[in-house]
Amino acid sequence: MRGKHIKRISKLKKKNGWLSIVLFLLTCIAAVGILVYALVIFVNYLLITKLSTECEKVLYLSSVYDESEGEAFSEQVLKLIGDSGAEFIIRDAGTGELLYGDVYNTCDYEGNSASDFRGDYPVIFYNDTRYSFISIDRTGDIGFDWAGIRKIISELSDDDLDEDLEGYDPSDQAMDFAFSLGSSEQVRLPIWIGTKLDDKDVFFIGKGYVTINIGDLMFLVIVSGVFLVLFTVIFLLFIVNMVGNIRSQARAMKLFFFDLVTKGHNRMWFYYNGEKILSRRRNASYQYVVVNLFFAKYNTFCLCHSVSEGEEILRTIYKKIGEHLKKGELYAHGNPEEFMLLLKVTNQDHIVDRLNLLIKELENIEGSINFTYHIGASVLLPSRDRDGKIVRRKDIDLEIEYNNACTARGTIPSNEGSSIAFFDVKLVEEKKWQDQVEAHAMEALENEQFLVYYQPKYDPITQELKGAEALVRWQSPEFGFIPPGKFIPIFESNGFITKLDHYMIEHVAKDQKKWYDGGYHCVPVSVNVSRAHFIEEDLAEQIRDIVDKVGTPRQLIEIELTESAFFDDKNALVKTIDKLREYGFKVSMDDFGSGYSSLNSLKDMPLDVLKIDAEFFRGDNAGERGRLVVAETIKLAAALNMKTVAEGVEQKEQVDFLASQGCDLIQGFFFSEPITGASFEDSMKARKANKY
Ligand code: C2E
Ligand code: CA
Ligand code: CA
Repeated sequence: MRGKHIKRISKLKKKNGWLSIVLFLLTCIAAVGILVYALVIFVNYLLITKLSTECEKVLYLSSVYDESEGEAFSEQVLKLIGDSGAEFIIRDAGTGELLYGDVYNTCDYEGNSASDFRGDYPVIFYNDTRYSFISIDRTGDIGFDWAGIRKIISELSDDDLDEDLEGYDPSDQAMDFAFSLGSSEQVRLPIWIGTKLDDKDVFFIGKGYVTINIGDLMFLVIVSGVFLVLFTVIFLLFIVNMVGNIRSQARAMKLFFFDLVTKGHNRMWFYYNGEKILSRRRNASYQYVVVNLFFAKYNTFCLCHSVSEGEEILRTIYKKIGEHLKKGELYAHGNPEEFMLLLKVTNQDHIVDRLNLLIKELENIEGSINFTYHIGASVLLPSRDRDGKIVRRKDIDLEIEYNNACTARGTIPSNEGSSIAFFDVKLVEEKKWQDQVEAHAMEALENEQFLVYYQPKYDPITQELKGAEALVRWQSPEFGFIPPGKFIPIFESNGFITKLDHYMIEHVAKDQKKWYDGGYHCVPVSVNVSRAHFIEEDLAEQIRDIVDKVGTPRQLIEIELTESAFFDDKNALVKTIDKLREYGFKVSMDDFGSGYSSLNSLKDMPLDVLKIDAEFFRGDNAGERGRLVVAETIKLAAALNMKTVAEGVEQKEQVDFLASQGCDLIQGFFFSEPITGASFEDSMKARKANKY
């Protein structure tokens, strides 16, 4: 899976993060933009309407003047126009000389030719030297003259106005505007509009006013102001809330990555940052290795001291690991007694050296007595996915790699001293198999997929069938025919073996009962009982009850115990063996000679049968020395009143030798492989082996 943890945590981060802020800001900008745009369009529309009316007026007056012919008549027309209240001036188009103008002349004469806004009639707009507030460019676009507007505003709020008003003369047109300003109802903003009269070779320039109702203006200002205030408040609230969210998210992230025991980093932090490092890596001159460091004595330490002292040690270990690490390497605290590391190394030897050094440093922690550390390491080589494609660096799932390191560490026996194990792909296969076996075990038991095979035991001299060992096989619809070596160790480690042992005893008891009732010459059949099972105090009673329930004579069932069981609680073991024998079952020691201190265990165990391990007849052991040991073992067993069964016998010479030494029974391929119940039934019928 693609940088699983980076993705997961980035998702978490994003939830309340910057993305919402950016979206909000964009929305704000868009809202303000739309508002301003609407405002501009609205104001423009108003101005254009008003300006075009003013243009119309001036053009009309100019046309009246233009029509007048003869100087005296023109004079009269001008006077009439002036009397109508219009303010205008007439300039010579050539010299620029002011020909007529009985007004307070504030025209700046620097006009821009444009058009009136309706009929596209060419006009010239001139600014007012005193109160210019808009400017019209050649294309007719209206712009605001901000300097002029500032001046208007400052004069509106100035006392000069009042002073001006004191000497107000209604005929003084210069004061007209000021009066308008002071009227508090309207603002009349002047603009000069000129037109060239070609026949007369003059410019007729009239003064127009853009009249703005103060009430309307105030309404506009108030609405915009309220909107702006509201908007600012919402904006600020959002920002405050966002900052709060980001801060609490940062705190949550810190907690998310925080390890309560060591006050350092936890596994999530390790996965997240590890995957980041691995995805950025460029250089191939070094490799990364993921390490699972297991503090093997943690539980014992806590039991002997206290959990808080144990945690103190964990903190010290964490600190020590930190001191050992280099730049670009990571470490974190995983399960209580486990630490996770990501190291940069040049080759396998380098890893071993570094890890050994680390172990040494950790073993020397003050107050640590016999602390052992088990380390599992998984080197991050370019790996392939199911389709055989090389997994890209950014697709590395550190959790899987760490699990690999844990799997490797799990192969170190729990009682072993400090040691290092490397991950191998085979381990994954084994783990997968283990999971499959575990998943199907119960169903297999219920559906009787476990078959009982019988391996006969023969008397080496008389070649008579004297017994058999029941051996399990699994006929699985999913996996086919599976030998016990592939599932017994799994069942032993997960405890399922006790169920299988019960199953085997019951099925053997049933077979025996059937044969017994059928008048066969029945022989004792030994059943393997796992060492894990022997921990149960009432094991002997359980076996007795199963056999009795079926109704099989108890002497037809023998119980085999592996030698390793003899290392556990000896007293409990002796008690169980005693009880079993008391109930009438024979008890044998399986695989004698395959382990250590076998002799020692023999002296205390009240056993009936000793099964000599097949290893004595293999490889180097098959020689003179091996034979000597076997011969002595048989003698010893006889002296202790025990019968002997030699296992794994494949050759005639071996049978001869064992017979000569007084071995009681022989179980091996020489006579017979493990066979089905039906075939074993046939062997019983024959009673004697004919191979010899
Ligand atoms: P084991 O109890 O020592 O069983 C003897 C094993 O040696 C059997 O392997 C048998 O097939 C094999 N064997 C016998 N004679 C020869 C021979 O001449 N040459 C060779 N090469 N092998 C020979 P199997 O059946 O594969 O069982 C393996 C182990 O699985 C058993 O070792 C026993 O520890 C365990 N097991 C089998 N069935 C059961 C069961 O029902 N319950 C328990 N708890 N363990 C079982
Ligand atoms: Ca056995
Ligand atoms: Ca055996």
